[in-house]
Amino acid sequence: SNNNNNNNNNNNSSSLKNETDLKKQQKQNEIKQQKVNLPVFSARDALLENIRKHPTVVIISETGTGKTTQIPQFLREDGWTKNGVIAITQPRRVAAISIAKRVAEEIDVELGKEVGYCVRFDDKTSEQTKLKYMTDGMLVREAMIDPMLKRYSVIILDEAHERTLNTDVLFALIKGIQAKRPSLHIVIMSATLDAEMFSRYFNAAPILYIEGRQFPVRIYYCEESQKDYLDAALVTVLQIHLDVNNGNESNSNEDDGNGGDILVFLTGREEIDTLEKLLNERIPRLPSTAKQLLVCPIYSAMPQEQQMKVFERAPKGTRKVIIATNIAETSLTINGIRYVVDTGVVKSRLYNAKIGIDTLTVIPISKASAQQRTGRAGREFPGQCYRLYTEDTFAKLDHSSIPEIKRSNIANVILQLKTIGIDDVLSFDFLERPPLPTVQKSLEQLYCLDALDKQGKLTDLGKRMSQFPLEPMYSKTLIQSQEFGCVEEVIIIISMLSVESIFYAPKDKLAEVEAIKKIFFSPEGDHLTLLNVFREYQKVNGNLQWCYDHFINTKSMVKVVNVFEQLVEYCTNSKIKLTSCQSETEQVRRCFITGFFLNVAVLQPDKKYKTMADNREIHIHPTSFLFDVKPQYILYNELTITSKPFARNVIPIEPTWLPELCPKYYGSKPVATAAAAEPQK
Ligand code: ADP
Ligand code: MG
Repeated sequence: SNNNNNNNNNNNSSSLKNETDLKKQQKQNEIKQQKVNLPVFSARDALLENIRKHPTVVIISETGTGKTTQIPQFLREDGWTKNGVIAITQPRRVAAISIAKRVAEEIDVELGKEVGYCVRFDDKTSEQTKLKYMTDGMLVREAMIDPMLKRYSVIILDEAHERTLNTDVLFALIKGIQAKRPSLHIVIMSATLDAEMFSRYFNAAPILYIEGRQFPVRIYYCEESQKDYLDAALVTVLQIHLDVNNGNESNSNEDDGNGGDILVFLTGREEIDTLEKLLNERIPRLPSTAKQLLVCPIYSAMPQEQQMKVFERAPKGTRKVIIATNIAETSLTINGIRYVVDTGVVKSRLYNAKIGIDTLTVIPISKASAQQRTGRAGREFPGQCYRLYTEDTFAKLDHSSIPEIKRSNIANVILQLKTIGIDDVLSFDFLERPPLPTVQKSLEQLYCLDALDKQGKLTDLGKRMSQFPLEPMYSKTLIQSQEFGCVEEVIIIISMLSVESIFYAPKDKLAEVEAIKKIFFSPEGDHLTLLNVFREYQKVNGNLQWCYDHFINTKSMVKVVNVFEQLVEYCTNSKIKLTSCQSETEQVRRCFITGFFLNVAVLQPDKKYKTMADNREIHIHPTSFLFDVKPQYILYNELTITSKPFARNVIPIEPTWLPELCPKYYGSKPVATAAAAEPQK
């Protein structure tokens, strides 16, 4: 009967197969057509010749010319993958993933085979992988295991103009590797013209310019500064959309859904969610003559299937409005954009080296960024850019953004370099040096974390910390959890903190969501509340209905479980037993102090908090379960500065724990009163 079944199905499936074959053929033809139309196509032979001839080349061109997707394919066709792998680094994980998908589709191979990607906690590569899209951080980690990066024939450092911390570290690492292994070829790709610096650094490497296509973009400024850029963005999007001259009525050449889309730049997920909600509330009330408006958010923490949606053309007669973070500035090229709405701000990691605190802060963009954003409107046709700030404000912006190495904590970099065997960070061959106070403060932090000894040598603990794909504060907490007997709890919490949101809140059910969330509430704070969610999720085996009833984002939870399993594996490899403290959850809170001792704040009589490290006024974030509780002493995971400085993910602690668990930072005397709380050093 089995045979019969097969026979019966055969007819059906073969006609089906023909249909999908046909679709696939069409798609492939379309791709081929797109490929030869990309500006980089006509530069192919010159590029290959230069890469063959020179150990390092610098390639400059506008976003969207085809650098990231095409150049690795050219190299593959030219034989560079016969004896090695080609690495293409990206500052952002979304870019690495979505571009790998696109390239696999273009070559028509299964993702993860010949073309793959590798980002933290998500490795889609195999033995066969020859084109490997990866975050810059992952390549630094590989260098810790294989300091010669032997498997690579070519390393492409993409988006070099972004100057992320990890890309800066890679400049120096692979330059050093190439000196010892001349067969390694290096390609630096950048979207801005300041390339001399790269060329000089790589021994006068040739600079190749690829002419992009850029149509004129008309820039509009605001007459006066906007108090609320989110509101201004909402109004501007609706104005653009409803303007009859913008193809809303019968402007036929735009009515094919192949243009006229809007791209809005915001700073992060919460803002993007808010604007999406606001727009979706307004859309049903738009005049019936208006085109349909589709809202497509994109940011790093968003599920992958949804990320790919922004690349799909809007259906005929509709217009897309893409709400994005900086990811759409140069990392991803989205077709069909005619209008850009630039809020003029970006969320950036800033480091105060005097006190050693890192924050995520919303700051003005640079002129270079503003120009890049504007450019996104003119890739396929003339466009318009609405800057939600005044011309005067623009004139006062910095020329270009400060590279991350000059404005972040480099504790993790120091730890990684020391693991590779580079002990003297100050004389390391950086493209641009980190500021001395930053180096000193980061060294001090590592010393307080017991990762370095008094002489600055890596300790055994430091070595173990560097093996985890986590920032030092987290890896220290995780390793320390053995002493507190709460390894399992800490791994779960770290996994839960690795995704952005566990709960989702449909706008018509906010009260219900709040009520449901209380089920999980732990007076011991957000970390333990998250632990409760995970435990319940485990109990019901990830039941979908349960998730649905409790407003829990199943995709986030699947990701959490995946990270959890990977961390368990790291622990097994590091011979860390999965102990549990059961109901002794105070152990978990104590344990977090060993890693996060810098992130402590004290309640003031006026109900605001002041940080212990620098007496800065901060607030508990409204999403925290402790927002109304206001414990005397809190430890937080992260400080985000938007409208105010907000502590996110908070637990209450006891002041006596500080000198006990972190004597190097807090001295051995008890921390006295709230108001007088100052760290002793
Ligand atoms: P560059 O690196 O020079 O900025 P890219 O190689 O990223 O350029 O982009 C080249 C082209 O590939 C663009 O037209 C872009 O829209 C297209 N592209 C990239 N990723 C995708 C995708 N996931 N789906 C559809 N088109 C894509
Ligand atoms: Mg690119």
